[in-house]
Amino acid sequence: MMRRKQHIPDIDFDRFPFGSIKKLFEEKKIFINYDYQRGDVWTTTQQIELIKSIFNSYSIGVLVLYINDDDQFEILDGQQRLLTIKKYLSDELNLRQSDLKPYSELDYQEQMFLNAYSVGYLKLKSHNPETKEEDIIQTFLRLQEGSPLNKAEKINAHRGAFKDAFKTIKEEHKIFNFLGHDKRFRLRLICASLLHLELESDFQHSVFPSLDLASLKSSCSTYEESISKSKLKFFKGNLDYLLRSLNHLLTAITTRDLIPFYLLVSYLRRNKAGNEDLINELSAFCADFLQKINSFSVYDTTPPDGMEESEFFEYLSYKTEGRKATSSDSIDFRFNFLKNKFKDFQPYVQKDPKRLHDIEQKRILFFRQQGICPECSKIIDFRTDGSAHHEIAHKDGGITDDLDNAVLLHERCHVKLEKKLRKQKNNSQNKLW
Ligand SMILES: [Zn+2]
Repeated sequence: MMRRKQHIPDIDFDRFPFGSIKKLFEEKKIFINYDYQRGDVWTTTQQIELIKSIFNSYSIGVLVLYINDDDQFEILDGQQRLLTIKKYLSDELNLRQSDLKPYSELDYQEQMFLNAYSVGYLKLKSHNPETKEEDIIQTFLRLQEGSPLNKAEKINAHRGAFKDAFKTIKEEHKIFNFLGHDKRFRLRLICASLLHLELESDFQHSVFPSLDLASLKSSCSTYEESISKSKLKFFKGNLDYLLRSLNHLLTAITTRDLIPFYLLVSYLRRNKAGNEDLINELSAFCADFLQKINSFSVYDTTPPDGMEESEFFEYLSYKTEGRKATSSDSIDFRFNFLKNKFKDFQPYVQKDPKRLHDIEQKRILFFRQQGICPECSKIIDFRTDGSAHHEIAHKDGGITDDLDNAVLLHERCHVKLEKKLRKQKNNSQNKLW
């Protein structure tokens, strides 16, 4: 099995004098990269304890900083410590519960003593632009051991084709600009979850993977070496459809609703005959559906104005099921709910799974036409030639087993006819504009 080389950034040890930290923030020398930082903030007590430790010359541990391309220090570990020091130096710390004096009220000697306290840090620098981001992530994840990582961070620690795919697509596809703030790899997790569903769902038998960590990890290993290009292309195509049909609604959609919508798009693109109008149909449907499920809360017991009671309980069950967002049963339930609602809203012709006529059907056509090709009126040699044409195109819902919808042509005549029909169709479409 191919293993990638692990890149280790350069590591140096250095120190800041305590007194310089406020200035480092002001000059934007220290930089907080919110991708890597969690929202948790220290309590006042924790902040006071830190400053007390410094007064007593105890160690406050070693910070870990990463030097980025702009020569700024990105904080990988120690954000709360640095922010607390900065606050104390700016007299912004709440000291009411303590006997500490604000920094500005310390006498000269006390200030000098404190300013000289040195804050040690590890300085990381990567020289390989290709793996730079990975270096930070890997280092960060290792530092966080012991404190709980979220699912997104754990999935990010994997390497391989699956990880490369969700990372790249998240960066490149515009849909992710609509899906809210990125924090702790939230958007990468959404991308990984959708890709996982795309690769592992069996729509025909209604079997869907769960989105829990173990299940996502299984895709990391199944697709560690490679993912087929056509599958990735289809996946990106689905995201295009989602983006174009939901558009600004995406800014308000929850991840748990995004998932069944993604599955609906993927399902329709595989199974619906005549896909051209899909975006318009989806737009209208999605807007209607989202409006309905967002007109009441899961705690409501009576329908909102304008909704029948039976409909209300139906949509309520959908919303309730959504709270078990990651289980495969919940995904199955919500996908089928959405699929049936779409059918009610917009009846559609299902694609005929059988695309080609078999030899028996061609023989029937041959005798029905007395061996004549209707395009050129010449005899077809059944042993070497003969291509069956759908009058209503297969992709528009033409059924292969319906022989009233078929004629047998010379192969050459069939190619010519298809070309002619395409041209006519394009012309009539252009006229509309
Ligand atoms: Zn012919």
